Amino acid sequence: MLTIALGGAAGIAVPAPAWAVGDQRPGALRPPTLTTADQRVAARVSAERALWHLQVLSQGIGPRIGGTRSEHRAADYISGVLDHLGYDVTRQPFAVADKFLAQLEARPGLPRDLCWQTGASPHGALDVKVRGDVVDVHAGTAADYPADVTGKIVLIDYVAANREALVATAVTNGAKAVVFLPADLVEPRRAAAFSPTLPGSATTPVPIPVVGVAQAQKHRLRAALAAGRLRLTVSTAAHRGLTSHNVLAERRRSSTDGPVVMVSAHYDTVIGAPGANDDGSGTVLCLELARVLRKLPTSATVRFALWGSEEQGLLGSRYYVSQLPQAERDRIVAVYQNDMVATSWDPATRYWLLSFTGLANRATDEVAAAAARLGYEPRISPVTLRGSSDHQSFQEVGIAAANFSWRGEASPALLEPPYHSPEDTIAKNISLERLKVSMELIGAAAYATAGPALPGGAD
Ligand SMILES: [Zn+2]
Repeated sequence: MLTIALGGAAGIAVPAPAWAVGDQRPGALRPPTLTTADQRVAARVSAERALWHLQVLSQGIGPRIGGTRSEHRAADYISGVLDHLGYDVTRQPFAVADKFLAQLEARPGLPRDLCWQTGASPHGALDVKVRGDVVDVHAGTAADYPADVTGKIVLIDYVAANREALVATAVTNGAKAVVFLPADLVEPRRAAAFSPTLPGSATTPVPIPVVGVAQAQKHRLRAALAAGRLRLTVSTAAHRGLTSHNVLAERRRSSTDGPVVMVSAHYDTVIGAPGANDDGSGTVLCLELARVLRKLPTSATVRFALWGSEEQGLLGSRYYVSQLPQAERDRIVAVYQNDMVATSWDPATRYWLLSFTGLANRATDEVAAAAARLGYEPRISPVTLRGSSDHQSFQEVGIAAANFSWRGEASPALLEPPYHSPEDTIAKNISLERLKVSMELIGAAAYATAGPALPGGAD
């Protein structure tokens, strides 16, 4: 099987899928029985092309925090790709909350396979850069401090209920910055980076930076410290007055009144996560299907939507739906949302059909039908109740939509360990085989829904 060497320090090889259109798919129980329309999609989709986009998003840009410059760079990239493919591209702006971020650097260097963005406390020192030797004070009570930590950066195990007292003790002892370490979550979960709030600081301002790292970062910091002296630089930044964007694209001269089929994903990430699978995978699925479908005539309009600020509470898709007049809502036949469609986590062997109402609709029906034609039906779940992605915003107003995603067999709550963490990278969390299966399923379903115009009339 072909492997693709990725750039970067790790030099990781990602196995590339290598099946032909008529072949039985990996994990399928039988060969496919494809329509002419399905064959047109399956013959064209390329996991390798999607990977190029994913490298730009997750490695070139990295974390894409709603409303910040990082998300704007991703919107620029996505818009550029869609424009280059010949689509009419629109950016829909909306206001989002302030963000408080930090970056860690160290001497000797921190491991480069991990992202070192963290959250900063909005109530600690912001827009500052401090440098100092690291001291691990564990539980962070007064008794845990060595004689003098003046000018040092302290690692403290985070306990939400005590966080303000822990910071006050660090300040009293002369610490230069606080790095809060989250408790380990139960496997397969791992704690994300966070921006610790210190509400009592309205009366007593905290004069030093306070940051919250992810579980994976915690273990690497403690390992680095165990190996010897660790000198850390903590840079904090407040990002205020932010605007996030949805990126929308449809073919030029699309009809302004017929039916619309939507294919969507969110392109933002949580703090500290390069977002290769969540949701770089869904984003590049959209970009690759935009390339595949651009010259295939359809009777309905195919509209691609890349949502901003999903991780802040489905903000982009909610805003989009709120701005859509009822006549425009009525045009939408189905919304195919793709959130986490390529994890390489072994137990994520089931492709989930997730509906906010728990009921089947046009989107779930078409994907189930496409799965049957492609021979994948043993791998798909029954229609299962779950929101928590942008399909919810549409289903809340009665539009047929669903989210599609690879997860563990037993439950859609079984997400891969790198989820929302600095380890959500191509090397640690992307299967090109699963990405290709996802593109075939959604491409075939969306094209069938849109009414392929085929020579000779029908299949
Ligand atoms: Zn997501």
